[in-house]
Amino acid sequence: FLPMAAIFSILLMVLTANWLRRRISWADEIRRAMRSRQFSVHYQPVYSTEIERCKGAEALLRWQLPNGEMIRPDIFISHAESEGIIVQLTQHLLDLMAEDIQGWEVEPGFHIGLNVAAEHLQHADFVQDIQRFARRIKDKQMVVTLELTERSLIDDGELVARKLRYLQSHGMKVAIDDFGTGHCSLSYLLTFPLDYLKIDRGFINAIEGLEAETPVLDAIINLCHKLKLDVLGEGVETSLQYEYLRQRGVVLIQGYYYARPMDNDRLRAWLNEQGR
Ligand code: C2E
Ligand code: CA
Ligand code: CA
Ligand code: CA
Repeated sequence: FLPMAAIFSILLMVLTANWLRRRISWADEIRRAMRSRQFSVHYQPVYSTEIERCKGAEALLRWQLPNGEMIRPDIFISHAESEGIIVQLTQHLLDLMAEDIQGWEVEPGFHIGLNVAAEHLQHADFVQDIQRFARRIKDKQMVVTLELTERSLIDDGELVARKLRYLQSHGMKVAIDDFGTGHCSLSYLLTFPLDYLKIDRGFINAIEGLEAETPVLDAIINLCHKLKLDVLGEGVETSLQYEYLRQRGVVLIQGYYYARPMDNDRLRAWLNEQGR
């Protein structure tokens, strides 16, 4: 049998491991990282085939640790969602964006997009958070665009739809993000007040690869035209993909082919170059 001392030290190790695990939860790390300004925002330009220039940009959160290491957004966002800190993180994002945007020179009507989590949509502060942000950047006359996923429209649909209609009546736009990857119920396309739809990168990839998936892409584009929704193609990487989409009336293009996400300084320089 194990001597008493061994039992005690095993017990101690288990307790310490539990304590450590609890102490360095993602939520705590994220809170600490917000305080020490480890988060920043990158912006990816969106191209319009109609006006033949940049139409706006999407804000993408970045987390860099003091040692320089980056944590991938899809990782920390999903932990922030599951540990109930996504609302605070998005409020932090809105603060960072408002600071960055003060230094931008853009034409009125420039779209500024951000990703909104399901929990935030349902949160009592949601409308107020977005309106406060819009007020802070008011002098730029931008159009605030909210990117929601299909999943976030399922719960509490009626209340969410009311909030979205309210924000739209104040000039904001609503887009469905990653379209085609979630619960593909088409009914909410009719019931929700949507302005445009972002087709997931997976369908765009298929333009050069698996021929079999292209009919689905064509069907989505046709559906959008019928419903009078604008379409945005995400993750466009090649001229072939770009041409394919443009010929089928996809007016908005986002992807490495046009521009990569960039930090605030590089975006400002890039915007100035475009303006010339
Ligand atoms: P998303 O909203 O679909 O954002 C687009 C992602 O595709 C970004 O990845 C972007 O860098 C990447 N991308 C853009 N163009 C191309 C391309 O041509 N090729 C390829 N291969 N990739 C491209 P990122 O920045 O890693 O973000 C991943 C996801 O994390 C986002 O997907 C979004 O769901 C989430 N996310 C990022 N920032 C936020 C945020 O502030 N709030 C919330 N709730 N989610 C965020
Ligand atoms: Ca997005
Ligand atoms: Ca997307
Ligand atoms: Ca995505």
